[in-house]
Order: sequence, then C-alpha cells, then structure tokens
Amino acid sequence: MLHIGCHLSSSRGFAAMGRQAAELGADTFQCFLRNPRGSRAKELDTADAGALADFLRREGFAPIIAHAPYILNLCGASEENRAFAREIFADDLRRLEHLPGQLYNFHPGSHVGQGMEAGITLIAQALNALLTPEQTTTVLLETMPGKGSEVGGRFEELREILDRVDLGEKMGVCLDTCHVFDGGYDIVGDLDGVLTEFDRVIGLERLRAVHLNDSKNGCGSRKDRHACIGEGQIGLEALSRVVRHPALRHLPFCLETPNDLPGYRREIALMRRAAEE
Ligand code: FE
Ligand code: FE
Ligand code: ZN
Repeated sequence: MLHIGCHLSSSRGFAAMGRQAAELGADTFQCFLRNPRGSRAKELDTADAGALADFLRREGFAPIIAHAPYILNLCGASEENRAFAREIFADDLRRLEHLPGQLYNFHPGSHVGQGMEAGITLIAQALNALLTPEQTTTVLLETMPGKGSEVGGRFEELREILDRVDLGEKMGVCLDTCHVFDGGYDIVGDLDGVLTEFDRVIGLERLRAVHLNDSKNGCGSRKDRHACIGEGQIGLEALSRVVRHPALRHLPFCLETPNDLPGYRREIALMRRAAEE
C-alpha cells in the first residue's frame, strides 16, 4: 500500500495531528516543530508527544517527517548566524527523541556568496557537531531547486555532504519532485534516467522520503513554486509514475501542495488510486 500524507499545522499539538492525518486518509504526515519562519518553540508536551508515538505505532503509520524551519541555515555567513541555526537544529533533534524513529528534513542551506565548497564544508561540520550515535531520528537532506546560492540543487552536492558526515547511518535524502524538476532533472520525460543518476551519484538506499508536489514552472526554472497535483508542469501522469515506481513506492510520500484540508484529502485519495493502476 502507498504511504502518503501531507503537511499539517502543529498548532493543536502532536496527538491532534495524528488523528487529523488519519481522517484525511493519510498514514504519514509532515509538520514543523516550531514557527517555520522563526525560532520560537513552545515547551514540549511530553504526554502529547507520547500519545502521538503510540498512535503512529498502533495505526501502522510510515515514518513521519519533522521539517526544520526555513530560516535555518547551517552555512550562513557569520558564526553567530550558524550557531543560532545549530541551536535550533539541536533542540529539534532533542524534541524528536520523544517520537522515536522518525525523520528530520532540512534544506541544506544557502552559501550566500561564500561559494559552494565553503557551504558544503560548513554544513558537514555542523552535522558532525549535531548528530549523536544515540539518536533514533534519521536526518534528511532535501533536494533543492538550486535557487540563488542554495546548496543541494545538484545530487553531487548532497553526495559531498554525506561523504563528509561521520555518522552517515543517521543521514538520508528526501527527494522533492518540484525541486528536482525545477533544478533541471526531467522527471516528466525521463524518470528512470533521473533515478539512475540519483543512484549513481548518491545511492537509492539513501532515499528515505519523497515530497510529492507539482511545479508551477518548467524543468530547470529554479523558481520553487509548488502547484497542486495535476495543475502544474509536472502533471498527474508523471506524478503517478513516481508513486508507482519500483524504486520509490515503498517510501513515505508527503504532499506540500497549496491546499486546504479537503484539497489534501482529495489529493491523497487521487494518489492512492494512481498507485493502484
Ligand atoms: Fe522543504
Ligand atoms: Fe519540499
Ligand atoms: Zn519548495
């Protein structure tokens, strides 16, 4: 069976998200652990987190994804900026241990003019300072469109980071269909070719989750504007091939499409049908 869910707001707490996901027909979901554009986080309610952990186990959910805040940049220009990012990252990882065995997805960062090599070095250094042998969370580098000075627009950049992280077994990759398409990987015309390239450069065993999004813009546009399924330039047919692909179909898929909850419910059902065809 396809494992699919969507991005949910965490404002009503952990256990409420689990129930909401199930109501939408999902068996995974994604959320922020704090304000996505800021750093502030409420005190963690351990009973609420425990209730979600029980729910996920009982309902047989696929791993869920906690998404790092967008402002987090492990390769910012100043040490102050980077230390702030590491602090948030470390706090999120600590929180996630109340939900054992889940995924923490982050945007590798933007090198802001320091150069790709310097950016990759800073990200790997930060990860080496942050990851611990005891953690049960797998940390995912998200594939990015390569907008501006973004790191992670090429598979080679993610591979470089992974190669330099000591606790490699704690790391994986999340493939965002909108981002890779925007970054110039043609998943519409040649999905097999893109996945062969991913396997050659990174290794498909590193792939742990998929962000399932259509894109408002064309292949190589580097715009990062998500569209609803079937309303963008990737299209329903190509996204159906993604969820059906033998190299991908076992993974958790998460919608990050511009939707309200009824829209998410429709897209989850739509992709479940597409996966069966
Ligand atoms: Fe993301
Ligand atoms: Fe994404
Ligand atoms: Zn995006």
